[in-house]
Amino acid sequence: MNYTSTRNNRLSVSASFAIANGISAEGGLFVPESIPHTDAAFIASLAPLSYTERARKILPLFLTDYTEKELKAYTAAAYGSQFEGPAPAPVTPLHDNVSVLELWHGPTCAFKDMALQLLPHLLTGAAKRVLEGKESVILVATSGDTGKAALEGFKDVAGTRILVFFPDKGVSPMQKLQMTTQEGNNVGVCAIEGNFDDAQTGVKAIFTDAGVKERLLKNNMCFSSANSINWGRLVPQIVYFFSAYADLLAKGAIANGEKINFCVPTGNFGNILAGWYAKRMGLPVNKLICASNENDVLTEFLTTGRYNRCRTFHTTVSPSMDILISSNLERLIFHLLGNDSDETNRLFAALKENGEYTVSDALLEEIKATFAAGCCNDDATKAAIADTYREHGYLCDTHTGVAVRVYEAYRAAGDMTPSVIVSTASPYKFSKAVLGALTDGRFTAENEFDMVSELEAFTGIPAPAPLKGLKGKTPRFTNVCTQAEMEAQVYGLLGIED
Ligand SMILES: *Cc1c(COP(=O)(O)O)cnc(C)c1O
Repeated sequence: MNYTSTRNNRLSVSASFAIANGISAEGGLFVPESIPHTDAAFIASLAPLSYTERARKILPLFLTDYTEKELKAYTAAAYGSQFEGPAPAPVTPLHDNVSVLELWHGPTCAFKDMALQLLPHLLTGAAKRVLEGKESVILVATSGDTGKAALEGFKDVAGTRILVFFPDKGVSPMQKLQMTTQEGNNVGVCAIEGNFDDAQTGVKAIFTDAGVKERLLKNNMCFSSANSINWGRLVPQIVYFFSAYADLLAKGAIANGEKINFCVPTGNFGNILAGWYAKRMGLPVNKLICASNENDVLTEFLTTGRYNRCRTFHTTVSPSMDILISSNLERLIFHLLGNDSDETNRLFAALKENGEYTVSDALLEEIKATFAAGCCNDDATKAAIADTYREHGYLCDTHTGVAVRVYEAYRAAGDMTPSVIVSTASPYKFSKAVLGALTDGRFTAENEFDMVSELEAFTGIPAPAPLKGLKGKTPRFTNVCTQAEMEAQVYGLLGIED
């Protein structure tokens, strides 16, 4: 199976090429030329398997230039003991025929681990084939969560190096400690004076600088990217939609072939798009329900066909969904247009120039046949967290709270199909907001570790070990530099100074 670009459908490259390059040269996103099909027997065969075994049946359908041996080793390394509990992506009953798919049992306690634990391995396989075995250097500018998830994923993966820059005063104390105490022999972390945009601009400048590139080449290294539009981050996510269905099947909660809904808390549209690929592959999905916070650009688009980024940006208690441009939507539109890159180019040029585009009525009808959408504000999110805990004894984080709220409104409108709410972070990653929701703001803890303890005491639900284990750790990376000093930091961290 080959991959093409959303901005140039004459292109045809291997999965390795798509993953090693991240983005296509003309700015498009890599997408599979065709979508593999699975049948009821295939889905039934997943039911008795472990998560890793399920991944080994689904990934080869897309990653046809990877060997069975490679994928076996990669999935074993990615979904091992770094995930706490009995399974990497367990399904927990919530009420009636509604369950929660928990994607936060990995090392950083959020759903990005599902992809970022596997991506580094996919990248090393790709590098062997298309980068002539050069060491892949990943540069990340982070506002917090992605940097840590990338560090944990790349940590000690042979043939890779990872360097993360974060704004010194722009991340939470917990996030800072998570990064500065990072273990591993191929990692580097540096704070920068300035905000996230300064870090991002600095990273982009280094990434595209010919002199830096040359210096790396001399040391048999080259830059690769781990950002959320890399196909290597999307494809691992398809697995857990099949896995959730297989779990329900194994429990006898549904019959094979019975359709289910998924409700996904959405930002960049990567998670829910993986669900769309699963549906296209033949997974019996009725509706994909897209849940947004007050940043409701997707709610408007999926219900009216108009995407308009010119709106107020809201900072919410579900920060990973605070987004105005959902990059992965481009892939959906390209596919629904029948792989028409000219029309995709026209729409996204309009987005760039005018901040908006509108799709045809026919396309909107197709979207509505698969997607439902809803949004809610912070008060509704907190109410959903409190209600879910009180009524069902289930503790959810703020992002999941948005999904619960949007799902309950959708269900109340009449569709009682068995449903899975996708949960994207541990409640302990957002202890302050969750504790506030449960206690109506009446709690005593003042720092994040005390809030974790207070939430544990209040609910009796233990916090994940990776978060508790940070307490009392001594930072390993204490450098702070200016944007202008970032290049020198890169050489220093890579050990390739003159
Ligand atoms: C990244 C993230 C999301 C949004 O996922 P997308 O794939 O960007 O739609 C939701 N919740 C959490 C906790 C996240 O980290």
